[in-house]
Amino acid sequence: MTDIESFRCKLVTYDEIVKWTGDVAKQIRACDCKPTVVIGLTRGGWVPARLMCDILGVKKLYAVKTEHWGVTANPDGKALLTQELNASIEDEEVLLVDDITDTGESMTIATAHLLKMRPKGLKTATLLHITRSRMEPDFHSVKVPEDKWTWFIFPWNVNEDLRTLLPKTLYEAKSVSEIKKAFREQFHITVPEDVVRITLKDLLAAGTVKRAGRKWART
Ligand code: ADP
Repeated sequence: MTDIESFRCKLVTYDEIVKWTGDVAKQIRACDCKPTVVIGLTRGGWVPARLMCDILGVKKLYAVKTEHWGVTANPDGKALLTQELNASIEDEEVLLVDDITDTGESMTIATAHLLKMRPKGLKTATLLHITRSRMEPDFHSVKVPEDKWTWFIFPWNVNEDLRTLLPKTLYEAKSVSEIKKAFREQFHITVPEDVVRITLKDLLAAGTVKRAGRKWART
């Protein structure tokens, strides 16, 4: 029998992003520890970091990148730092920003990297914090209990995430409306049919799915 993959997802809106970033900025203002540099942990921390700069009036915005490699690429599945910081943060008050702490791996390795660069201070902030994470950021807006683990589909990642999720609905050939229904049943999200069609077009071009008569199937 085919295994049908199913887990809870949530489509996040830009309004929620603005609200959560505002919450975190409010906490930072209250702690009287205004950063002089903001560093986005890319790719997910990039938009929140930029918003944070605007709210807190910070001009210096830098990036470091981590990647969480899958088991095929990295046998122990650890996050790796793939882009180091290319600017000086010596004697700066640094705020490292990411979208979410889930395992906490990315934040942990980025923090270790930044501490070696002798900042005056280093604080961490995420919009969402899942309680299973091995590190708790200094600031966060929403705490997600481990038993409510969710895959958050951020608005800057929606197409990429739908391209990953859609093939999981094609454990058998389906029409567009059946795919929409499967998104609801397997992933608890409502995806408009026009968005399903756009995603199918991308997956068709990539050779991940094919037309099977009036339906769609995995290649
Ligand atoms: P963390 O270090 O907090 O565990 P990961 O290293 O697992 O984060 O993943 C890195 C990036 O993957 C995150 O910054 C985020 O963009 C994405 N990510 C991880 N977990 C989730 C989740 N539950 N929902 C949405 N995106 C996630």
